[in-house]
Amino acid sequence: MQRSKIDDVILERFIVGPLEVNCYLLTTEDSAILIDPGFAADELRKRVESLNHLESRMILLTHGHFDHTGFCPELVKKGWKAGIHPDDKLLLNRVPPDFEGLGYRDEPFESYVTFKEGWSFNIGSMTLQVIHTPGHSPGSVCFIERKRRWAFTGDTLFADSIGRSDLPGGDEQTLMQSLERLKGVLGPETLVLSGHGGRAKFSTILRINPFLQD
Ligand SMILES: [Zn+2]
Ligand SMILES: [Zn+2]
Repeated sequence: MQRSKIDDVILERFIVGPLEVNCYLLTTEDSAILIDPGFAADELRKRVESLNHLESRMILLTHGHFDHTGFCPELVKKGWKAGIHPDDKLLLNRVPPDFEGLGYRDEPFESYVTFKEGWSFNIGSMTLQVIHTPGHSPGSVCFIERKRRWAFTGDTLFADSIGRSDLPGGDEQTLMQSLERLKGVLGPETLVLSGHGGRAKFSTILRINPFLQD
């Protein structure tokens, strides 16, 4: 777990589940946003239990793949609200049989709200803006925080790679278009907080990521 406090919002990262998803937690004194709670890992579960008294508890999903959504059914039962792009509804937390042995449970859930391109979510002084970046999955999104220059990119963009486009609903050309679009949205100083692997500034990613070379 890494922790950093910027003004009134604390950012924590938990690496959860066998597929090592980055789950990000943003908290203030009275609210929490959890991005991609993919697996009920002990450390994350303990931290989340300490937040169940908060009035405002929101889960934001970068997409519907099970490694990013696995902890949602349990959290929703405890009063967390989950949000996802409507184009990933069908994927939501479906686990291919190969992965059930790893501890992921095929447990679709239906209590969620949908959000779209241009919507935003506030926590403390921060605003997370939704950018629709399909390709890895039809409803993949990034959440952009412009003041702090943070971008939560899910499986669309990693520091040194990009997401797969060969899974159901994925499309390589669409993914490349989304990455092109991100190039216009993210500044060089933006810190990219992706769904797997380490964080990096976008200027570094432009240099080291082979998929972003022209
Ligand atoms: Zn994925
Ligand atoms: Zn993933």
